Amino acid sequence: MSTSPEDRAWMEVRADALIANARAVQASVGAGVRLIPMVKADAYGLGVERTVDALATLDPIAFGVATAEEGIALRARLPEARLIVVSPLPPAAAEPALRAGLEVGISNVEGLQAVVAAASALGTTARIHLEIDTGMGRAGFDWRQVDSWGPLLEGLDAGSVNWVGAYTHLHSADEDLATVEEQWGRFEDTLDRLTLPEDLLVHLLNSAGAMRVPRHGYGAVRPGIWLYGGLVGDEGLVPEPVASVHARVVHLKDAEPGDTVGYGATHRAGDRARWATVSIGYGDGLPRALGNRGRALLRGASVPIVGRISMDVTVVDCSGVPDVSVGDVVTFIGSAGEETITVDEVARLAGTISYEVLTGFTPRLPRIWTGFDG
Ligand SMILES: *Cc1c(COP(=O)(O)O)cnc(C)c1O
Repeated sequence: MSTSPEDRAWMEVRADALIANARAVQASVGAGVRLIPMVKADAYGLGVERTVDALATLDPIAFGVATAEEGIALRARLPEARLIVVSPLPPAAAEPALRAGLEVGISNVEGLQAVVAAASALGTTARIHLEIDTGMGRAGFDWRQVDSWGPLLEGLDAGSVNWVGAYTHLHSADEDLATVEEQWGRFEDTLDRLTLPEDLLVHLLNSAGAMRVPRHGYGAVRPGIWLYGGLVGDEGLVPEPVASVHARVVHLKDAEPGDTVGYGATHRAGDRARWATVSIGYGDGLPRALGNRGRALLRGASVPIVGRISMDVTVVDCSGVPDVSVGDVVTFIGSAGEETITVDEVARLAGTISYEVLTGFTPRLPRIWTGFDG
């Protein structure tokens, strides 16, 4: 008999909160603008299959992924849906992507050539989204050189390539809204200089853009982190928390003054202390950087993480918390009683961003979905 998912350590994912966050994006951009939820990296670590099931209730125009593999896996679940690979494809991935009926972002001439060749080999028509680099600098046709690459697109053989979308990606919508206007201006200028197909699906905004500058919504927006409960750089905008992370107390120790805990003996009890060993570690994706910095919730109290986080266990100081027992639930992200630890708090303490915290949780941590029976 195998164990039950809540025996040791687990992530709980609230589908109702995910849906509420998606509705907030829709309300921000207005009903005329469609959603392309970004579900790359296993829906930011929460589980792509349940995520697309939950988001289907909002009738998104497409789902966005980053790799051909992700699109191919999702195709098995969504035989009819529009699936767009927004990151540049390595040349060898073009053919499998087209075979699965994925739409692909095209970021450069080499990418275009690879897709044309793959489409010809398969006798199919590739559906492509032109990516314009308006300042992100990592992918896309340079906005300054539209006169050199524009004619390539307009001269495409309609038999092998169907130009269905155009997009760019914002670099600082969570930090500096002036840069959004600058990138939007470059995007507009570029679109103006091209002869666009009718029905071209134009998309610009990520989560921060969609929540903060919804007037640039065009035909669709590509939200990611906000859906999954991450902040977008505006204190007034707070998503519903979606993911919470919990584990069990598996060992209790009454420490004597001077006792040390964990690798490197980096924490020493100054006084008598009670330490609870909890069954989650960096092997589950709990950031090791939280050692001697982070906190957790136990029996309604906030307790500090003491010592280094190990691969499999983490120790918290529960001195003064009454009635702690082996088997108690400890919360590392989420709410317990009056207290909440957000994914953004964890990210700040770990010196990273919510995206990296969420995508860092490993397959060892079961994802338990609640709040949706679809
Ligand atoms: C990941 C990604 C998004 C979503 O960004 P968030 O900041 O998570 O909303 C949108 N567009 C592209 C091209 C992406 O790679």
